[in-house]
Amino acid sequence: MNKIRIDCHNDTVLNLREKKSLRFLPDAHCDYIRLQKELGLAFFALFIHPHHFGDRQTEEILRLLALLLADIKANEDFVYPVFWHQDLQKLQTEVKARTAVLIGAEGGGFLGVSPEILQYFFTLGFRFLGLTWNFRNNLADGCEEDGGLTKMGKTVVRECNRLGILVDAAHLNHKGFWQLLEQSDDPIIVSHTACETLNLHPRNLSDEQLAAIGDQGGVVGISYAGMFLGGQEPTLQDVADHIEYAVGIAGIDHVALGSDFDGATLVKDMNGVQDLPNLYAILSQRGFSDLDIDRISGENIFRVLQEVLPYRRDNI
Ligand SMILES: [Zn+2]
Repeated sequence: MNKIRIDCHNDTVLNLREKKSLRFLPDAHCDYIRLQKELGLAFFALFIHPHHFGDRQTEEILRLLALLLADIKANEDFVYPVFWHQDLQKLQTEVKARTAVLIGAEGGGFLGVSPEILQYFFTLGFRFLGLTWNFRNNLADGCEEDGGLTKMGKTVVRECNRLGILVDAAHLNHKGFWQLLEQSDDPIIVSHTACETLNLHPRNLSDEQLAAIGDQGGVVGISYAGMFLGGQEPTLQDVADHIEYAVGIAGIDHVALGSDFDGATLVKDMNGVQDLPNLYAILSQRGFSDLDIDRISGENIFRVLQEVLPYRRDNI
C-alpha cells in the first residue's frame, strides 16, 4: 500500500546560501537524496531573518526562491515542485519515487507594506505563509510579544484564502492565533510546535488552541526541536509524548509531523530525516495502529492540502 509521508516544516533552504545544491548535504538534517527515501512531500520554508536583511527582505527572498527553483529543476530525479491541487495526485503515483516540494515562507516581512504583492509570490509558486517569525512585522506580532494581527495581516489572510495559500500560525502569539482562526475561511496549520501543557514555552499550543485546530479542520505539526519538548535531554519518546497528547485533544485526524529540520537543535536520537522510521516504531509500540500512524505521518496534512491548494487554471 502506498503511504504518503509528509513533513510540514524544514529550513533546509538556508543551506543554499553557502552551498550550490540541496542534493547531498551530509552535515544537514536532510537533503534531496535522503528525503526521496523517506517522504512523499516536504514543506520548504524560505526564511529571511528580519534583523539581518531589514528593507532588503523582498530582494533576498526572491534571490533564495530563484536559487531553490533552479536547484529543484536540476535535481528532478529526486524532487519536483507542487503548485496545484491537481499536482497532489502525483503523490499517490510517485510514492517512493520522488519527493514533492511545497514552497512557502516563514514570516511575511518580505511583503513590506504591500499585501497586494502576495499574488505575485503566488504566481512564482508560494503555497504556504507563516505570518510572523519571532518578532513583530507589518502583519502581526511574534510569539513573545503582546499584539495580534494588524489590519494588513488580516488582509493578507483573506488574500491567502482567495489565492489558495495555506496559512501557518507557527510563531504567532495566542492573541494572533485566535484572530487568525476567526479571519480564515480555510483550515490553518501550526507547522512546527508542541503542547504547552507538557512544556510551557511561548511557541507551544494550549489545550484550547489544540481543540480549536481540530474543530476548524486544520492540523498541528509536532516538532522534534528539543526546546519545545521539555525535560533534561529530550528524545523521540518525548516527541511521541507530545504527539499522543495532541491527538488526545485535537483528535487523530488533526495531528501531523513538523520536524524543523535544519532550523533547530533536535532531540538527540533524531539525526535527520533518515531516522523517521524510528519515530513510527515508537508510535507503534505505544499502541498507535498502522492506519493512525499513516494519518499522523502524512494523510492528515494531505487532506488539508487537498482542501486549500488551488486548482490549476489558465488565466491567473
Ligand atoms: Zn520556525
